[in-house]
Amino acid sequence: MKIAKEFTWEMGHRLSFHAGKCKNLHGHSYKCWVELSGSPNSNGMVLDYYELKKIVEPILDELDHSFMVYKNDKELINVLEKLNSRFAVVDFETTAENICLYLLNKIKSANLPDNIQSIKMRVLETENSYAEQEIELSK
Ligand SMILES: [Zn+2]
Repeated sequence: MKIAKEFTWEMGHRLSFHAGKCKNLHGHSYKCWVELSGSPNSNGMVLDYYELKKIVEPILDELDHSFMVYKNDKELINVLEKLNSRFAVVDFETTAENICLYLLNKIKSANLPDNIQSIKMRVLETENSYAEQEIELSK
């Protein structure tokens, strides 16, 4: 059985290595789908959607209306500090693929019940583009 819930957040980023438009400072209304698979518990739930929300929302709240910046992008970090702007320094280029893995690992670290067998994360940068990864949880 699978359950899934959609979440949204607003975030700025840039890809410093990119030859095209993506090297510029810009932002997205990001969406993600978090999908959990496993056997329903005795109450008939894979996981209460409310519990899923309690796990995912704090992770996204840290990113909402912030600028996600790669740790090697020193000039930009300086500017963000000067502006007293909200930002999150990460150790990866902020591609949809890497953001997907980042969120997936954060959720994996949460204390999920034993009946959950796998987590799938889909991160949508725009309405028609996404990155997706699924991981099996070893029990
Ligand atoms: Zn972008």
